[in-house]
Amino acid sequence: MPYSKKPLLALSRCTSLLVLLGGIFSSVNAYGVDEEFINYDQNEIAIVNVTLIDGTGAPPKTNQAVLIKSGHIAAVDSAKDIKISQTTTVIDGTGKTLIPGLVMMHEHMFYPTGNAHYTEMLYSFPRLYLAGGATTVRTAGTTAPYGDLNLRDAINSGKTMGPDIDVTAPYLNGPGLPILKIKSLRDAQDAKNMMQYWDQEGVTSYKAYMHIHQDELAQVLSSAHQRKRKVTGHLCSITYKEAAELGIDNLEHGFFAATDFVKDKKKNQCPAAELHQSLVDLDINAPEVEALISLLVSKNVALTSTLTVFETFTQGRPKAYPLALEALIPQVREQYETRWQKIAQQENATWPIVFKKMMQLEKRFVEAGGTLMAGTDPTGYGGVIAGFSNQRQIELLVEAGFSIQQAIKIATLNGATFLERDTKIGSIEAGKQADLVLIDGELINDTSAIRDMAVVFKHGVGYNVSKIVQQTKSVVGLH
Ligand SMILES: [Zn+2]
Repeated sequence: MPYSKKPLLALSRCTSLLVLLGGIFSSVNAYGVDEEFINYDQNEIAIVNVTLIDGTGAPPKTNQAVLIKSGHIAAVDSAKDIKISQTTTVIDGTGKTLIPGLVMMHEHMFYPTGNAHYTEMLYSFPRLYLAGGATTVRTAGTTAPYGDLNLRDAINSGKTMGPDIDVTAPYLNGPGLPILKIKSLRDAQDAKNMMQYWDQEGVTSYKAYMHIHQDELAQVLSSAHQRKRKVTGHLCSITYKEAAELGIDNLEHGFFAATDFVKDKKKNQCPAAELHQSLVDLDINAPEVEALISLLVSKNVALTSTLTVFETFTQGRPKAYPLALEALIPQVREQYETRWQKIAQQENATWPIVFKKMMQLEKRFVEAGGTLMAGTDPTGYGGVIAGFSNQRQIELLVEAGFSIQQAIKIATLNGATFLERDTKIGSIEAGKQADLVLIDGELINDTSAIRDMAVVFKHGVGYNVSKIVQQTKSVVGLH
């Protein structure tokens, strides 16, 4: 078509203009080039002399070897017994630790950019999640469902790098939330219609949110379970006890979002102002706490621990890692620093009391036989930065009293099992997908070695972590 200004001016619909501009800028790749970040893509790779934490919760083993063939784990053995051919690429794992790729269950592709606004980080977050060891994530709630769906597909088809994504539908919420991008359900039928639509668009999980009503949640659970999909919830209007009895599969944020202990709580109402104080006052040895844990365990309700996001509100805790802060654009970094200082100067802060108690409850839940999974929730006021926070979450689980092998299991096999993908991912076993993280350092002696990830393998392709991190600076907050 010959170029002329006239038809361009005649266009009345923005969509037509976008299509036209898309043609002009078709050489621009929205995803970026990724080959430069790949360190290993040989068909046969052996990692030898390495300390192995295999994701099953078994004690770590030293002097191990893992053989990768065609993207899968072909063998796991002691270093002296593994069979290596002349064409195998050998990586010496002396002084290093190998863990499974992380399966992170409360992730988002958006980030808080100020004043209750959330902006999509569809460029930087998938990269940082991968560089932070996550080979599978669930996006537990979204403000841009098409962004998450298209990103998942682009990653699956090799157009860009990032973790495998279990895409959660947009939040299923009732009225009362001051976030503009989140819909308020009108009634249970509305929930059913919404789920029908997003099911056709390809989401694979659902999340109920803070203001949903009981009849709507009942509908959500029945629609999801009919489709063999699972539902998680960050609840407030509905107690954990009520949700467990309705048949929910998963609850987010450990016990931090449990309104079960708010006195005179009204049905279907979120006691947002009273929740925190109820946790400050909570006697964690009280019989009602014991009863709630027993109920969740007996109903097989998994909990997702997101200590990372609550740590940012808690006085006396360290700042985000220096490397994580370097990933931020200056404006959001400044907002973060200002808020962090304010919290540091608070008088009579109550978050330290709650943070410690909730850590203890997560530990107790697991001791009672409950399934705990790991997530990071990059929200709050911006101190939870994709990828780096995966590592922080593992450090916090260890601080909560879990052994390193238990913490790794929580962040790998437990999520994989919940997603019903445990025959393929979640642990280092022959036959599984080669999703692995090679760490510089002995994690069994020093938990902070988790910050020194060197190579993240996804489907047997090894990504250079420091290169990704170096080239993803000063962008979070922008895209
Ligand atoms: Zn969240």
